[in-house]
Amino acid sequence: MKNEFMKVPNFIGNGKVNFEERKIPVPGDNQLLIQAKSNLLCGSDRNQFYNGSPKCIPGHEGSGIIVDKGMNAKFEIGMKGAIYLYDYCHTCRSCQLGFTNQCLHKNHDYGFNIDGAFCEYYLVNDYVFFPVHESINVINASLLLDVMGTGGHATKRAQLIHKDIQSVLINGAGPIGLGLLAMSKLTFAKDIPVLINDIKSSRLPLAKKMGGLPIDLSKHSLEEGMEEHGVKNPDVAIDATGKSIARKNALNALAKRGVLVMVGNGEGLEFEQYPDIGSPERSILGSEYFSYNEMEANHDLLKNNQEYLSQIITHQYKIEDVQKAYEHFFSHDSDAGKIAVVHN
Ligand SMILES: [Zn+2]
Ligand SMILES: [Zn+2]
Repeated sequence: MKNEFMKVPNFIGNGKVNFEERKIPVPGDNQLLIQAKSNLLCGSDRNQFYNGSPKCIPGHEGSGIIVDKGMNAKFEIGMKGAIYLYDYCHTCRSCQLGFTNQCLHKNHDYGFNIDGAFCEYYLVNDYVFFPVHESINVINASLLLDVMGTGGHATKRAQLIHKDIQSVLINGAGPIGLGLLAMSKLTFAKDIPVLINDIKSSRLPLAKKMGGLPIDLSKHSLEEGMEEHGVKNPDVAIDATGKSIARKNALNALAKRGVLVMVGNGEGLEFEQYPDIGSPERSILGSEYFSYNEMEANHDLLKNNQEYLSQIITHQYKIEDVQKAYEHFFSHDSDAGKIAVVHN
């Protein structure tokens, strides 16, 4: 290492970040030392930004370059790639079948309880690193995580149930909603109608630019919006808002055999067996992050659609300005999709 020390941002709470110097860590067996290049901001960082992160340096949508490795670590120094969030166990029933997002004995979450990608350098176990092709920009490599990974997992969950998906409704046009839109187009079919709604008008122009059929819920009801676009009853609805009312409206809008996928956490959902579920044979599914092995197919999609997908990253800030980046990201009428915070 050129310099034994690095600068790291401390999230001290109340939306304040200050910097301190720390020693650059040394990789142990099977570990990689990552020089962080980029981290995408996420709605789930809200608690760390406003309430502080005493346990670790945040950053769970990171990409970077391997600059050192411990004994027996796979991958080579100089490779660039993305870092999977879950430090999964490999041995449990879920991991053995490849469901690493459902690991029963997870060790850590990078950026939530062990240092993440806002550090200039940080250690990861080699099995969470996913190398990318040289044609993929290192900042775009982070798209393999919450944007394509979480988005693609939800679309695959729907495909488990429904074999002829011809229309999609997405609740929420924030970063996850945009990922769902892109992955619906890339997974189901490029010309499929994908309705996408939001209560924040400022989010809809980008959704439209990416091929979505926007519904501005600050101006129209969901029914009016669907009718305007000529899609009355979508086959699949994917909720990224976590709001009960949005989930319920989406469920009610579904066609026969329709599937509602609820991404991540959020409020509850009330429904009646009849008429909501039983006779139309609708399904309701949860969807949580994604499995490490899903990155392989998503990597091919990213390689072939880098320009399209990279539109989701609308802004870049330098690490010194990470506080400003979050202020922008969490501002009420933010025009941002994903914001990348980049290291020099
Ligand atoms: Zn995230
Ligand atoms: Zn496991």
